[in-house]
Amino acid sequence: MGGSEPIRWPGGKSFAFSVFDDTDLATVENVAPVYELLESLGLRTTKSVWAVAGVGQPVIGGATCEDPGYRKWTLGLQAAGFEIGSHGAAPTTAPRDIVVQSLDRFRQIYGQDPSALANHSGCLDSIYWGDARLDGASRLAYNLLTRGRRRGEFRGHREGDPLFWGDLCQSRVRYVRNFTYADIDTLASCPAMPYHDPHRPYVRAWFASSEGRDVDAFTACVSEQNQDRLEAAGSACIMYTHFASGFARDGTVDRRFRVLMERLAAKNGWFVPVSTLLDHIVAERGIAVMDAAERRGMEHRWLRSKIRVGYS
Ligand SMILES: [Zn+2]
Repeated sequence: MGGSEPIRWPGGKSFAFSVFDDTDLATVENVAPVYELLESLGLRTTKSVWAVAGVGQPVIGGATCEDPGYRKWTLGLQAAGFEIGSHGAAPTTAPRDIVVQSLDRFRQIYGQDPSALANHSGCLDSIYWGDARLDGASRLAYNLLTRGRRRGEFRGHREGDPLFWGDLCQSRVRYVRNFTYADIDTLASCPAMPYHDPHRPYVRAWFASSEGRDVDAFTACVSEQNQDRLEAAGSACIMYTHFASGFARDGTVDRRFRVLMERLAAKNGWFVPVSTLLDHIVAERGIAVMDAAERRGMEHRWLRSKIRVGYS
């Protein structure tokens, strides 16, 4: 089991920082100013996309790669060193044929399969999501907490189901995001990441993230004090956010976000996309295999923060 050895970051960097941007509600207009700022500060992060629009009306949508202007803009991000990740096949529930179509389209556009993926909670093809994220007593607690609304709802991992695509996830995606924690120090909340969970074999390796769902949550998590603590610990942070949620208005980036990012970027951090960060940890110590006791601890910590503030 990994996690006890401190990670040495490349190039003498003292800590690592990344962001996984969930593409909910994103358009070129509402997120491009955020990426201009990150690029100018030398930060490279991960922007997720939906490669196809899918079928039907999404509950929570946003631009997809079927929009030529948006697609071109994301290709520009990729050329500038940002990672393009996946937020699942489409903003709507995708049966297997659409998943295949979307993965192939992603490869055609970006030249490779998505290496990092986060489930979209509006899609029933999400993999090991809802109560399937948890085992045993934690699953019971979760179903009580959510009044059973999500029991068995998500089926991407369920063999024989029309929404099954687990085998494709296993062969084409390297990292999937799981639990989100309150603290900026993601690696301290989940010391084993990226880890393989034998109970969830269709995901090769899971990663955790830190809570920054909108501009208020994000700026609270990357406060001056927390930045300094992350740096002092020599640890790693992967923020999970939606850059379409209040980070830029009318083309102007939120002032507090900008000031905090400028401050962070001035530090001796390794500011790389999620997969680059995780690949480095894997190169240092391999992919950890989660045992039952460690998994229970992680689930409990996550449930506690979920009960407190409703983290996803
Ligand atoms: Zn989403």
